[in-house]
Amino acid sequence: MSANGTSVLDLDLDLWERVAQATHGAAAACFQCGVCTATCPWGLVRDEPLNLRKVMHRAQLGLDGQRDELWLCTTCLACQALCPRGVQVSEVILPLRQLAWQDRAAPAGLSTVLWDLHWDGNPWGQPPSRRSDWAKGLNVKRFESTDEALYYVGCTGSYDPRIRKVARAVAETLQMAGVGFGTLGDDEPCCGDPARSLGQLDYLELLVESNTKRFKEAGVARLVTTSPHCFDMFRNQHPGLRETTEVLHYTQYLLQLLQAGRLRLERPVPLRATFHDPCYLGRHNAEYEAPRQLLAAIPGLELVEMEESRELGLCCGGGGGRMFMETKAGERFADLRVDQAAQTGAEVLVTACPHCITCLEDAARGVRGGMKVLDVAELIRMAAVAQSQVEASSTQHSALSTQHSKTAAGSAS
Ligand code: SF4
Ligand code: SF4
Repeated sequence: MSANGTSVLDLDLDLWERVAQATHGAAAACFQCGVCTATCPWGLVRDEPLNLRKVMHRAQLGLDGQRDELWLCTTCLACQALCPRGVQVSEVILPLRQLAWQDRAAPAGLSTVLWDLHWDGNPWGQPPSRRSDWAKGLNVKRFESTDEALYYVGCTGSYDPRIRKVARAVAETLQMAGVGFGTLGDDEPCCGDPARSLGQLDYLELLVESNTKRFKEAGVARLVTTSPHCFDMFRNQHPGLRETTEVLHYTQYLLQLLQAGRLRLERPVPLRATFHDPCYLGRHNAEYEAPRQLLAAIPGLELVEMEESRELGLCCGGGGGRMFMETKAGERFADLRVDQAAQTGAEVLVTACPHCITCLEDAARGVRGGMKVLDVAELIRMAAVAQSQVEASSTQHSALSTQHSKTAAGSAS
């Protein structure tokens, strides 16, 4: 308090320096318009929105406070998409989380996630020796450098019973398209997304270094992921792979296979479906078309759009490490998203991300029962026909045609 009773902000230059260095000045461009706060989906589910404008202001002043708010952010980038100054939100939020770790002010419970990551190589505390159990009975082999692609399953696809079905659908589809691929089996490392999203950026550096070395040594020229989070990590956070490895989300790779005539979608799937854009595929990596083009190629499937889609798509609530934090009932974005999907008249809400599947399925299971949630891979698997089946049926067809012509010729003579 000053002598006249007004509040005085006591700026600490050392702290200012610390925040500026950690965030690399990413908040500097902010001119406090407040568009981000108005855009943020937390405003839809809480009386008190996530006041990102204030977080930015404090970062500009070198204050790292508002720590509770820091952990709400799902890094969905809805605010960044509309920010007139193009402020890189994650570049402020994640380093501020890193400072909170340094000051032992991170929320209780999150350190367990990071210890699990450290000891078991996955954030779910599951044994590394069970990592490849998802592929039981599928005849998925170990990756070799001569393979067309490394299928990177990811921690959630490897262990979560629901997402294992998605991983199996991806693997089976690759097999049906005749792709030579393999996985790293039980040796597959975590992509580092949990460390990054929780702000453990020093630990992330170690993971990135070791992953880069491992993939380079294995001779991975093409890496295909189940999750958009892993896709984003390998594409954007592993600079050492840029020269050597093409990183694709599985929807992008399946679309390439479809366009090359290797993936045949011939079985009808007569459903009305709507697509939810995962933030890490859409806003983070501008991939809106691949999943839609795949869905559009499924015979009998009708694709309808929600009002908020593509750049404006509502977040499921699972990014930014929120999968590891509790979100109160009534404050889950996924509930709103399932309502939006239901308004289109769709029978199926389709997405292409393990976190989205988990959050949306939880929401659909509750009061909003009746809406089925599926991954694009699962629908593709339903529609796909194996190359061998296509070849067999075309051989059969030509044999029948030959027989028919002979018969016709015989009757004519
Ligand atoms: S929208 Fe951008 S410029 Fe406006 S307050 Fe938010 S971060 Fe700052
Ligand atoms: S990234 Fe998403 S959750 Fe975070 S402040 Fe922006 S709109 Fe809100």
